[in-house]
Amino acid sequence: MIEIQNREDLLCENVGRDESGALTFAGQDLAALAKIYGTPLYLYDEARIREKMRTYLSAVEKAFGGRGHVQYASKAASFKRIYEIAAEEGFGIDVVSCGEIYTAYAAGFPLERAYFHSNNKTDADIAFAMDRGVGTFVADNAEELYAIENEAAKRGISQRVLLRITPGIDPHTYAAVATGKVDSKFGSAIETGQAASITALALSLPHVKLCGFHCHVGSQIFDESVYLSTQRIMLGFIAEMYRTQGYLAEELDLGGGLGVRYTKDQPTLDIEKTLCAVADAMKKTAAELGIPMPAVSFEPGRSIVADAGMTLYRVGSRKKIPGYKTYISVDGGMTDNPRFALYGSPYTVLPVLPHKGAEEEICSVVGRCCESGDILQEGVSLPADLCRGELIAMLTTGAYQYAMASNYNRIPRPAVVMLRDGAHRLAVRRETVEDLVSLDV
Ligand SMILES: *Cc1c(COP(=O)(O)O)cnc(C)c1O
Repeated sequence: MIEIQNREDLLCENVGRDESGALTFAGQDLAALAKIYGTPLYLYDEARIREKMRTYLSAVEKAFGGRGHVQYASKAASFKRIYEIAAEEGFGIDVVSCGEIYTAYAAGFPLERAYFHSNNKTDADIAFAMDRGVGTFVADNAEELYAIENEAAKRGISQRVLLRITPGIDPHTYAAVATGKVDSKFGSAIETGQAASITALALSLPHVKLCGFHCHVGSQIFDESVYLSTQRIMLGFIAEMYRTQGYLAEELDLGGGLGVRYTKDQPTLDIEKTLCAVADAMKKTAAELGIPMPAVSFEPGRSIVADAGMTLYRVGSRKKIPGYKTYISVDGGMTDNPRFALYGSPYTVLPVLPHKGAEEEICSVVGRCCESGDILQEGVSLPADLCRGELIAMLTTGAYQYAMASNYNRIPRPAVVMLRDGAHRLAVRRETVEDLVSLDV
């Protein structure tokens, strides 16, 4: 693949500029799309999603032979079209709620390829998932395991289960997305002995078919060594369970978390190289520990959809506060992308049309909510003559944006449009004000 690296770093090869200098996405005219569908607008480059899924599938095949699997962590972007694509590409999925299960079901996704996560599945969630044939449950804790046993017994089935284990790893990422430390709301820690006791419990339950272990240490990870340490700890735990409980895990799920390039100073993570390095390390570790290699799965979310997404906004005002800074207000905000407000996440923001020769100014791009924290990005360099009515694009918005959108201030959520082979198609229509009152009785 040819990497387009002109003066301006557009982060991903699906972002370009046409002859007039106007920004394009998946080769398409953004002003035309904004005109048809309105703004704010979520765009997805369908070819990029498929390309990422294929990269993962060929990487696990290369790294683990027929013993590697990939599930798309669908919390990153959950709507019917995404599940249709995952089904067509032969991918598995992770789901975390009845809403995600139902969306996948409505899209015709084969739910035996779904893994059901979450640290608190209610009895109703468990029943809902079993009734729709969700293949694997990832149990978080002992109480949940009893509830799974109970629902499986009622149905006379043996439910495939993985146990979520906390390996005690700090992945050096934002605190809010670090999930593998001992002090975490997720899973059972090896260090405290709770991982060993939940294993014993799972083995004692007649309607639970324990298939192995799961861990997920965090998100937006660029450092391969995080996965190398994780595999060592998890294989060590598998060996220990074999030694002490005679239980040999057949599957190890190493979670997701592979990093994505949001700004030009961030690296591009080589997925295949990372997975192959993990596989090599695992083969060595398993040999040292004298255990057979388990089947291995990964659950990428962000790295499948992030750079397949872009958000378009229309500028409402440019307010320069002398001695302070310039605020660019747009027609969206924390309601369509709460990630800066939540984690201070970096993004790249660009004007859609070129401003040749214009001076640049450092701005805060802010939303329209009645909330000072409603900031999309700070420290953005934009043309000093940018004005009301112009379009700006935020890059790499495919993961955890639409999925995290809210109706705060009763702002309707934007439409989602899929771009494919030069054509565009609505995947989720724009919410209307009538939709907003439709639940009010
Ligand atoms: C969120 C999550 C993932 C996906 O993480 P990404 O950073 O989006 O790749 C995978 N597994 C579990 C259990 C998760 O909670």
